[in-house]
Amino acid sequence: MMSRSLTVLGATGSIGLSTLDVVRRHPGRFSVYALTAGTRAEELATLCREFQPRIAVMADAAAAERLAVLLSDFPEISVLSGEAGLCEVASAPEACTVMAAIVGAAGLAPTLAAVHAGKRVLLANKEALVMSGKLFMDAVAASGAELLPIDSEHNAIFQCLPAEKVRDPEAAGITRILLTASGGPFRNHSLEELRSVTPTQACAHPNWSMGQKISVDSATLMNKGLELIEACWLFNTTPDRIEVHVHPESIIHSMVEYADGSVLAQLGSPDMRTPIANGLAWPERIDAGVAPLDLFAVGRFHFERPDLQRFPCLRLAAEAFAEGGTAPAVLNAANEVAVSEFLRGALAFTDIPVVIERTLSVTPVVPADSFDVIFAKNTEARQKAWEQIRLLTV
Ligand code: NAD
Ligand code: MG
Repeated sequence: MMSRSLTVLGATGSIGLSTLDVVRRHPGRFSVYALTAGTRAEELATLCREFQPRIAVMADAAAAERLAVLLSDFPEISVLSGEAGLCEVASAPEACTVMAAIVGAAGLAPTLAAVHAGKRVLLANKEALVMSGKLFMDAVAASGAELLPIDSEHNAIFQCLPAEKVRDPEAAGITRILLTASGGPFRNHSLEELRSVTPTQACAHPNWSMGQKISVDSATLMNKGLELIEACWLFNTTPDRIEVHVHPESIIHSMVEYADGSVLAQLGSPDMRTPIANGLAWPERIDAGVAPLDLFAVGRFHFERPDLQRFPCLRLAAEAFAEGGTAPAVLNAANEVAVSEFLRGALAFTDIPVVIERTLSVTPVVPADSFDVIFAKNTEARQKAWEQIRLLTV
């Protein structure tokens, strides 16, 4: 068997490390062509020593210099830096599969480079798709890239759909997608209690261990809002055909309802190595190192409707998608800025949606005609979000 060569964008993150853990279990099956990280040179150096990629990339130039020193006893590993380096390893002919696991808008350009090069793209970086939506899907269609969803819900939906009708739900007889959500760590908090929650509390997710940004997104339900938009693009559907179900056990990762009343679900322990292994080996199945599901231990499943009063981010995302154009890119940019300020302790949890809503109201929406427009709106919306935060916190 030919081994499948990989570029892992965001190798030091939660998804990157889970990806490398699956790779580690299948030495003949996968080889690592390139590993990338933002600023953590020491952590990337450790991974390079184990996986011996051809190229290692640090987004940050100073970090790349540190990495080169740390890897001076591995002269066969080239060290690159910056967005150009990330795009180079995402599109290099030597890599057939690219794990897109950089967090946030910083992942758009490299993910897109992989799409344009026609790779198998394992999409964890949902922000890239939310920002650019139709442009992104058109680029996938134009290049013939194989886009496989890694987000657990979307991977679950993907597994419940006939493979040849993933982008044609009507022809597949699909009536609804039931998108599950854990509800996050503050599911039962009152609005009053939400005002004073801390970054540490927000990052302590009850079921999943994830990076800080997505942990906060899960706590505000913005993650579900981004996922609603992500599902519309991936499965060529509309929000009125998607219903969010809060399911605190996080065992059912999502469901698909068919015209005959059948509902298909994908279940499993909450461990990202399952969707990652599914994408890496698709259409085959491989061991992911995931604990078998023990339904006797789980005992019961619960379902509730999301509360948009306490968690307005889900509503804001649905509205931005309905507005279209650059609105989802603005939503995403404002959310990234607000979440980073919350994590710094400089913004209240309940002010995250306030910043997003105000940024959306002061940033003109234009048609999303090109990726240049998206990148420019992302920059503009970040500035607007900083202004809104300043106004809120003086
Ligand atoms: P993380 O914060 O743990 O890791 C992020 C990775 O991106 C790190 O390797 C970091 O070095 C790199 N990075 C950060 N900023 C960068 C920049 N400016 N340029 C280049 N690289 C940069 O995040 P994560 O939890 O692994 O999430 C990664 C992506 O996967 C996110 O888009 C997230 O929404 C998505 N996702 C994550 C999970 C999960 O369980 N963690 C589940 C579904 C989807
Ligand atoms: Mg998810």
